[in-house]
Amino acid sequence: MNNKIWLSLAHMSGREQDFIKEAFDTNWVVPLGPNVDGFEKDLEGFVGHDRHVVALSAGTAALHLGLIQLGVGPGDEVICQSFTFAASANPIAYQHATPVYIDSEKDTWNMDPALLEEAITDRLAKTGKLPKAIIPVHLYGMPAKMDEIMAVANTYGIPVLEDAAEALGSEYKGRRCGTFGDFGVLSFNGNKMITTSGGGALVCRTPEQAQKTMFYATQARDNAPHYQHTHIGYNYRMSNICAGIGRGQMTIVDDHIAKRRANHALYASLLKEVNGISLLTNPSDQFNSNHWLTCILVDPAVAGCTREDIRLHLEKENIETRPLWKPMHMQPVFKDAPFYGNGTAAGLFDKGLCLPSGPTLTEQDINRVVVAIKSLQS
Ligand SMILES: *Cc1c(COP(=O)(O)O)cnc(C)c1O
Repeated sequence: MNNKIWLSLAHMSGREQDFIKEAFDTNWVVPLGPNVDGFEKDLEGFVGHDRHVVALSAGTAALHLGLIQLGVGPGDEVICQSFTFAASANPIAYQHATPVYIDSEKDTWNMDPALLEEAITDRLAKTGKLPKAIIPVHLYGMPAKMDEIMAVANTYGIPVLEDAAEALGSEYKGRRCGTFGDFGVLSFNGNKMITTSGGGALVCRTPEQAQKTMFYATQARDNAPHYQHTHIGYNYRMSNICAGIGRGQMTIVDDHIAKRRANHALYASLLKEVNGISLLTNPSDQFNSNHWLTCILVDPAVAGCTREDIRLHLEKENIETRPLWKPMHMQPVFKDAPFYGNGTAAGLFDKGLCLPSGPTLTEQDINRVVVAIKSLQS
């Protein structure tokens, strides 16, 4: 049997253990300390644009604290991209607000700016209120059409919480994802661009927002010698141990991005001649995806096989793949949420597959995946 080819595995630089050892040696085994500060500085330098980054226990926690600071509460509506992972939307429910889902456009597979505007005007007409926030996502690392989305958001004065959990290092018009919205969200979960074993960060525009984020992330303690609270708080701060892993990962983040882009380029060249299979690719040079995962669409009428045929065949070949995210408006838990769409995300879910894309893939691995796909067509 051939070796297993995984969808996306974490890869360590070797420096992680040094930072962790330092934390033990200096007894900073707590949710603050030099590694947390260092990791935040690394991330601030990486995303640029004078942003203030707060390291948290998860990307989901970052989304939650972003919504809280945008004032989202019971009875509010929050607009969210439907084609995403549930973590983008769950924090809306934590705040007892209602998600309003928006379909994707075909170029980037992300939030359709025209449907966004249609939804805003329709919600205003139906409820008399504007949605409280907008959550676009850079899915699979592909930047959303941020100029158009920000233009609509600014027209109606609605803040944007940008979910860049999958898009560390991706750029739109030369600017790093996570820096476009009022807040940006990063994730360092196990199979994201870099990992801290589990973790995330909130990218803030001002030092005051960063202070507020830390305040809410550490049980909302007021400034007093005793424990005094005037707000509900959370235990969302990243530990100094996890941040040590993050500092090690930041020493190789550029290599990881280059490698995932190289994986995508090799898949693109090898699959070019294969009928009925297309890749999610930068629609123009304004988009520069990190290609976190390489995704294909299978047109069964042309390819002679379905997405599911390919997935099951690759599974037999010991190759792990995964269907694209199932859109939120199709999820049983969100069945009552308003949705503005045209079938794009549902079509992507029906025809799409994520191929192995990790930073340790070899050329032979990618060849093996492509040969297995081609074997179904002959
Ligand atoms: C992973 C992910 C998140 C959540 O990040 P966690 O660190 O796993 O909590 C949010 N949004 C998207 C699109 C993600 O892929």
